[in-house]
Amino acid sequence: MSSHSPHKPVNAGRRHVLGALGASILAGGAGKAVAQSLGFPAPPAGLGKRPYPNLLRPMNDGPRKFGYAIVGLGKYAVNQILPAFAECEYAKVTALVSGDINKARRLGKHYGIEESHLYTYDNFDKIAQDPEVDAVYIILPNSLHADFTERSFRAGKHVLCEKPMAVTVEECQRMITAGKKAGKKLMIGYRCHFDPVTHKAIELARTSIGKPQIITTDNGDNTDPTDPTYQWRLTRSLSGGGALMDLGIYGVNGSRYMLNEDPIEVQATIMPPSDPMFREIDETIVWIMKYRSGAVAHGSASFNVNAMSRFNLQGTDASLRMDPATSYWCNSVSHCTTGDTHTWSTPMFTIPALNQFSAQLDHLAISVANNTPLAATGEEGMQDVRLIQAMYQSAHSGSRPVSTDWGDWRKTI
Ligand code: NDP
Repeated sequence: MSSHSPHKPVNAGRRHVLGALGASILAGGAGKAVAQSLGFPAPPAGLGKRPYPNLLRPMNDGPRKFGYAIVGLGKYAVNQILPAFAECEYAKVTALVSGDINKARRLGKHYGIEESHLYTYDNFDKIAQDPEVDAVYIILPNSLHADFTERSFRAGKHVLCEKPMAVTVEECQRMITAGKKAGKKLMIGYRCHFDPVTHKAIELARTSIGKPQIITTDNGDNTDPTDPTYQWRLTRSLSGGGALMDLGIYGVNGSRYMLNEDPIEVQATIMPPSDPMFREIDETIVWIMKYRSGAVAHGSASFNVNAMSRFNLQGTDASLRMDPATSYWCNSVSHCTTGDTHTWSTPMFTIPALNQFSAQLDHLAISVANNTPLAATGEEGMQDVRLIQAMYQSAHSGSRPVSTDWGDWRKTI
């Protein structure tokens, strides 16, 4: 896994400016009211202190910035990505693509995007003639990632595509090939690579725990079948898989990132579904990844548990604990030796220097401008899809070990 830093300059000044406003947002105040006046639902009461995205923050305009078209105006796009542009140094949103043109209009009005930069899936290819769009950010159900990536490359745009990159290895390969043919960049939306807590954990893993031995990682959430955001996740033709594809991927990618190597063997077991709504996909899965170094990672993913996002790394001399590890905010890492614990954490994602979403958006802009390497390439995304497919293969063949010793693929790309 690449360990490039996001190259995001720290703007300490804005940290100060956001202080008072941020406090009211986190209290669920102004941002929530504005969101409701725009017709977006309030966050469910059960989410407690979850901050509502700060829709009040002004766009950070200035000299021409790298323009993104956002494709798919669902939960992640509307609640996390669009508000994050306000804290970008180099990127801005310049176009919206949706199956619901009225939703696009409503959001376009708020973000200052004119009708001429609003697209539907049918007329999306016209984006080739839109000079304001440098890159397309694909935030659609998983099985639509490959087609829209290819269409975006055909339109001559760079692509940022959400995880999982696609639902099959063949699709991933097609996406990589299309990017090379177009001479454009393909980045996968592994936002945790831009979280300073992840960077601290990597630094500690490489310097202060001795030899890495055992990783334990668990990722899960509850499923609300009445919420559209879960409906496609329960439908194999749209999701390509269940808890492992959607949430377990954080543990799969994180283990490789942390150990800086790829597993040579995997094994997995899918538990029988506890509810018919999970009949098409894995509700709960447990897995093992063995590494050449002797390290082993074991993990679980579930669509039917109270939210969990844990990552532990046990070394010969010390251990790292991350809980939550891959949340949108408030991640933390503890370094523990016998009788001694130190914890580093992000207070809230609205602190500019720590906004992983903005850092990710800026990263592609910087990479294109300077032709510098990407932190999360298509090849990285494909490796995770390949490993996930190997885990499904194991689970569907009586949990037999499946070799993933595919050679040193990093040297072959
Ligand atoms: P949502 O269901 O909330 O949004 C998906 C959007 O895709 C819909 O709102 C819709 O937008 C569009 N869409 C187009 N065709 C379909 C279809 N057939 N069925 C459903 N939606 C369709 O999903 P999320 O926003 O949660 O997830 C989208 C992607 O982002 C997934 O790949 C997911 O894995 C990834 N994701 C990544 C996260 C991260 O932390 N990196 C977090 C959450 C999601 P419209 O109405 O505008 O057409």
